[in-house]
Amino acid sequence: MSSGAHAKTIIRGEIIAGGIILVNTLPGANVRLDGEEILISDQGIFLLGFQREPKTIQILEILYENKIIEKITLNVKKRSYNIQKINGIEEKKVDPPQSFLDRIYLERKSVKESRNQALFIKELYYNNGFTQPAEGPISGVYGSQRILNGKAKSPHYGVDIALPEGSNVIAPMDGVVLFTHNNLYFSGGTIILGHGQGLTTSYLHLSKILVKKDEVIKMGHLIGKVGSTGRATGPHLHWGVELNGKRLDPKYLSIFQK
Ligand SMILES: [Zn+2]
Repeated sequence: MSSGAHAKTIIRGEIIAGGIILVNTLPGANVRLDGEEILISDQGIFLLGFQREPKTIQILEILYENKIIEKITLNVKKRSYNIQKINGIEEKKVDPPQSFLDRIYLERKSVKESRNQALFIKELYYNNGFTQPAEGPISGVYGSQRILNGKAKSPHYGVDIALPEGSNVIAPMDGVVLFTHNNLYFSGGTIILGHGQGLTTSYLHLSKILVKKDEVIKMGHLIGKVGSTGRATGPHLHWGVELNGKRLDPKYLSIFQK
């Protein structure tokens, strides 16, 4: 290694539960987070995400020619979430009926497989800008959780935007369509977009899907229409974000705004 290799790492974004950061470091470097290899571009650009209940201290190591040239301690801020306990609900409304379990299992599997394809998108689409996928009142926030009859349900991993049926949903960033389905059991009309290095966004309960798998789309492209398909109580857009298996809060995608 040349004696003067300096990383000069620059972090953009908040280091917080549900958050995402954009990191610029030395071109040609490798990166490890708590010992685990992270995808990095040749230009030294990579993303890190922090889950709903993150490890509060995480160690980021920048390596060049197999030597650690910079070590950064990330102090991840915790958040508290709204937890709602509801008792006395009819049991059959707490869990999906037995007859749907096979279908749900297969649907989850194909969604997961499509998301894994996002790892192979080398193009850093997320670097081209960001806009909101729809404008409307927020009716559900990331991280909240319901406990029904004492049973903790999966936390709400996304943001709900309340809008009339048929409202436009646009791509918030450039990307590739990884998955579309007209009627998944829980999420109804569903689109998943890939934006590079494993970053995906998802759009649920749609009444119309206006893109096809493998289509490359630009920020602002009309991808679908708001609906209430799947298990939705009324028309709204559920918008989700994942980075390599970590489910993040869409509100932090604003770091990509130009
Ligand atoms: Zn939702």
